[in-house]
Amino acid sequence: MPAVLRVAVPVPLAQVFDYLAPDGIEADAIAPGCRVAVPFGRSQRVGVVVGSASDSAVDARRLKRATKLLDAQPLISSELCASLAWAARYYQHPLGEVLESALPVGLRQVKPLPSSAAPALIRNAAIEAEGLTLRAGSKVATLFDLLARGPLTFTELDTRLAGWRGAAARLRKRGLIAITELALRTPPRTRIAGPPLSGEQTDAIAQVAAQLGTFAPVLLEGITGSGKTEVYLALIEQVIARGEQALVLVPEIGLTPQALRRFRERLPARIEVLHSGLSEGERTRAWLAAARGEADVVLGTRSAVFAPLTRAGLIIIDEEHDGSYKQQEGWRYSARDLALVRGKALEVPVLLGSATPSLETLANVEAGRYRKLHLSARPGAARLPDFHCVDLRGKPLRHGLATATIAALRACIARGEQALVFRNRRGYAPVLTCHSCGWHASCARCDKPLTWHRGVARLRCHHCGAEQRVPAQCPQCSNDHLAPQGLGTERLEESLAEIFPGVPLLRIDRETTRRKNALDDLLGSLDPERAALIVGTQMLAKGHDLPNLTLVVIVDVDGGLYSVDFRAEERLAQLVVQVAGRAGRARKPGAVWLQTHHPEHPLLQTLMHHGYAAAAQRLLLERRAAGLPPYAHLALLRADAKSQTPVDDFLQAAVALAAQPDGIALLGPMPAPMPRRAGLQRGQLLLSADERARLHAFLPDWVARLRAQPQARRVRWSLDVDPLDLY
Ligand code: ADP
Ligand code: ZN
Ligand code: ZN
Repeated sequence: MPAVLRVAVPVPLAQVFDYLAPDGIEADAIAPGCRVAVPFGRSQRVGVVVGSASDSAVDARRLKRATKLLDAQPLISSELCASLAWAARYYQHPLGEVLESALPVGLRQVKPLPSSAAPALIRNAAIEAEGLTLRAGSKVATLFDLLARGPLTFTELDTRLAGWRGAAARLRKRGLIAITELALRTPPRTRIAGPPLSGEQTDAIAQVAAQLGTFAPVLLEGITGSGKTEVYLALIEQVIARGEQALVLVPEIGLTPQALRRFRERLPARIEVLHSGLSEGERTRAWLAAARGEADVVLGTRSAVFAPLTRAGLIIIDEEHDGSYKQQEGWRYSARDLALVRGKALEVPVLLGSATPSLETLANVEAGRYRKLHLSARPGAARLPDFHCVDLRGKPLRHGLATATIAALRACIARGEQALVFRNRRGYAPVLTCHSCGWHASCARCDKPLTWHRGVARLRCHHCGAEQRVPAQCPQCSNDHLAPQGLGTERLEESLAEIFPGVPLLRIDRETTRRKNALDDLLGSLDPERAALIVGTQMLAKGHDLPNLTLVVIVDVDGGLYSVDFRAEERLAQLVVQVAGRAGRARKPGAVWLQTHHPEHPLLQTLMHHGYAAAAQRLLLERRAAGLPPYAHLALLRADAKSQTPVDDFLQAAVALAAQPDGIALLGPMPAPMPRRAGLQRGQLLLSADERARLHAFLPDWVARLRAQPQARRVRWSLDVDPLDLY
């Protein structure tokens, strides 16, 4: 008879722990996936039961008893448990931590489960709306009006009125409204019908629909605006009609309000969102609504890949190539790859959508593992933009812009249209330098230049976040002629204001979009009928439809052309196509101007004349020849410490332990591409294998032995399986 529980406890140890069942409960009466409170060291932890056993290797006298069973029913389904266990093995990360990261914070505590009803605002019944003095047009008045026809949930308010929380606080203080809970959200009665679908869309929908109920990975390739979202919506409708749930992943929080609005208008469904911008309470509630099968659609960012699904029907990953699907800290998983693992376990199709598919996904298509569907035509006869290369060699530049570029911007504005000026550097200038002696401000902890943020008068390190005042004079020679070098979005904004006075100008970057919904609000503030300039970072590559946007200027493409990072060209090609996709989305044709010192570069040439697919094929050939992913499989061991010696010792020990494994090449130890960051010395060891299976046969034992090394305790180290960045 099972006597002990196997419990995954969230601690950085690669093992599960044995416990006696709580008093009065039989161990085998507790299903895997239930949470238990257990004593651990001197503290109390919430662990997840992963199984039971008849005896334990732990001495019976030392075996501790779980203090409390927290769930009568498993909170984590057997599918989710199995997928997470797979992930723990694949990424070599402790199961307890993996399971914990799948749970919203509210469920990592010893607390009763909250209700999954949605929090909402409601007008107080006793209030007579007449005779109230709310300033017409104010946010408070708008919110109060919105609630006239009945209560609205917080998520709904997010999509209807930016900044409603402040207004709600004021109305509550005056006793005019209250917080309530809405049970199952009733779908809107007046659903907006979608456009009539194109032949390609109908075909794509039919092909995926034919696979419902089975695992089928499908790439839906189509340029921005080709109607992929319409395909998603039609498929989700079918899934809901079958009584099943859809999980939809989008890359950024900024995209959720927009996607949510569109999904709400179109789907007869209860839609829950899951992303890091929500409060803990909201996240827990949404998670439970999914787990209890109350939500029909779960829409979220990276970590939503762990959403519990009791009646899964379809998984969609929009913009599957996007780097934000890869978790870059702690447990370094890929949400895209895990979505495929879950799709297989749940036996549902997984639809990967992108205008610029990752080389990994394209290689899977090539190998016959994924099916590919294509949307080529833009609905509504909008055209693809024309590309122009601006050769910067020997040309005079005004604030980083060539004369031809400025002329193109001027013409666009004269036509009453909008232009987007793209520069992937925030701040005023990437370097602040002394004109007299050549000194430049740099981060003492990273040995990298500090970025000058002029608006807030600070120097900031974009690598470690360190900040300092802008010195009044050069600390080296006391000269007070400190000058900006290079161009950030803030400086570009200033230059454009000077060149085009009176033209509405928006800056979109991490600084201007800190607030929730800020991106949406900023872009929404543009008059679509009037000329305007938008300057910003890659946040601009996606989101929000701007029908009057017809010109895109990419200020500098050269950084991506000659980089040590083997993914740089892939990223550049994706970025150019994504940014270009913002131009000419409506009926007006668009143009893209690329500024470069290398107009002959084969990648640019292929991209401009033959498009992304051809550029990707080219890059795939190069990767194959060089033995790089997707044709090789990598794992990167990183280590850092205050001084260099422990880093070297640890990595040397790692090499010694590996003892020339079969079919795996070890590269290093070597310094990281950024050898110092936030005051730490950084080194790495790269493992590369032609066959994934060989790598994964090798890793578990090696990592286990590595953990036990005394050198491992003197550094901070991590293993990144399928790393996206090699620094
Ligand atoms: P994507 O997701 O590929 O960027 P969307 O599905 O958002 O593309 O479509 C872009 C725009 O074109 C949207 O405004 C959408 O309503 C419209 N659209 C999509 N399909 C059609 C169609 N078959 N006929 C007319 N308009 C369409
Ligand atoms: Zn100086
Ligand atoms: Zn720094």
